[in-house]
Amino acid sequence: MKDIRRTLVAKLINDPAEYIGKEVDVKGWVRSRRGNKYVQFVALNDGSSVKSLQIVFDLAKFSEEDLKLVTTGSSINVQGTLVESQGKGQNVEIQAEALKVYGTADPETYPLQKKGHSLEFLREKAHLRPRTNFFSAVLRIRHALAYAVHKFFNDKGFYYFHTPLITASDCEGAGAQFQVTTLPLTDLPVNEEGKIDYSKDFFGKMASLTVSGQLEGELGATALGCIYTFGPTFRAENSNTPRHLSEFWMIEPEMAFYEIQDNMDLAEEFIKYCINYALEHCKDDIEFLAEHFDKELPERLRFVVENDFVRLPYTEGIRILEESGKKFEFPVHWGIDLASEHERYLVEEHFKKPVILTDYPKEIKAFYMKLNDDGKTVRAMDVLFPKIGEIIGGSQREEDLAKLQARVDEMGLEGMDWYLDTRRFGSVPHSGFGLGFERLVLFVTGMQNIRDVIPFPRYPKNCEY
Ligand code: ATP
Ligand code: MN
Repeated sequence: MKDIRRTLVAKLINDPAEYIGKEVDVKGWVRSRRGNKYVQFVALNDGSSVKSLQIVFDLAKFSEEDLKLVTTGSSINVQGTLVESQGKGQNVEIQAEALKVYGTADPETYPLQKKGHSLEFLREKAHLRPRTNFFSAVLRIRHALAYAVHKFFNDKGFYYFHTPLITASDCEGAGAQFQVTTLPLTDLPVNEEGKIDYSKDFFGKMASLTVSGQLEGELGATALGCIYTFGPTFRAENSNTPRHLSEFWMIEPEMAFYEIQDNMDLAEEFIKYCINYALEHCKDDIEFLAEHFDKELPERLRFVVENDFVRLPYTEGIRILEESGKKFEFPVHWGIDLASEHERYLVEEHFKKPVILTDYPKEIKAFYMKLNDDGKTVRAMDVLFPKIGEIIGGSQREEDLAKLQARVDEMGLEGMDWYLDTRRFGSVPHSGFGLGFERLVLFVTGMQNIRDVIPFPRYPKNCEY
């Protein structure tokens, strides 16, 4: 091989002008190979684009023997001249002059032979699915969205605040927790009362994986002003749904001096920014997913970016559901926690727009939410999206120490002194919310199942790799 610097496939396809007629070097994996006894065409993909680059092997220059190891899934290095393509389906191609095979892939055993494997099949081969066009498109969009999250908050002067993954507080009651322990499970130490003696455990007390970084996030916000977290979150709820994972990533901004209106404004601006970022930076991938899975995807994304979200009190939402005349699986009355079918009715059928539902009954929301003057509802705000249901859950927090203390006592929560200190010393009005990152990726990719938008999904009875 000659000493030529490697160029990424995305660059050669999207921006070929400076390379046309020149010798280039590409490295990647073979997606497919076809041809006849005069010429062979290889589709080469290096992960930089959903599009593959066509390599043309003239069999006057290369023998069948040279190409024997160039199978679907093999990894190769090719050097040759970039030319405008005569054929349909691509703008440029490489006329190969030199070939090196790094590793072949046996056609008898390589699982990703044909195009159009089902998503279910690929889920069983999750360790290899990043090599498919579909999943690599999802992963590139996922990356772009993660970058957009950091860029949005950084540009607004928010600080990235790292909250712990191992915690000794289950304050949110947001979901069942995974316990973290080094105690011998077959020979548990017990105390005088016959209970497990956690003083012998690694941390000297019971500990778990976090279900939310919010409470610690409030400590950051009441010092730095505006912070956000972006990290893994763990919930041991047995929800076998297309919208729940046992391990997912959550973004939780928390802002001092923000009231509920400011919180809603931020949530709407944030989510539109992220979607817009993907529309601008992931055109090829979104187009590919639209073409193969979901024709209406680009239109749906633009619609959300271009329209104001509806803002509606819970009580109004319940009235609309009651008057809809629809038969819901779960009956509707004031006080219920909305099920996905209710959320989707409001968003998809009634308003046909994203909805921010506010002022929920206090009984169905977390203890830290600010009580309204009616004494019955709290300043919660959930953002409801088409096809997804709840994508964001947030609220203005109770800043009054006495009221918060009363709620803590009512719920029988212990070990909360550190949290109550935010209200004891220099308490301020503040607000925040949590966005499930995979639900955002789900929306932007148009996928149906949350297990298809994270590289290694964890869900009940599944913990591969
Ligand atoms: P849901 O009612 O949909 O189970 P939740 O009300 O329990 O969600 P919150 O505690 O409000 O969720 O968490 C904030 C956000 O985190 C949610 O709006 C959602 O986007 C996301 N989320 C919650 N649970 C999960 C999960 N198990 N898997 C993926 N994302 C989740
Ligand atoms: Mn919620």
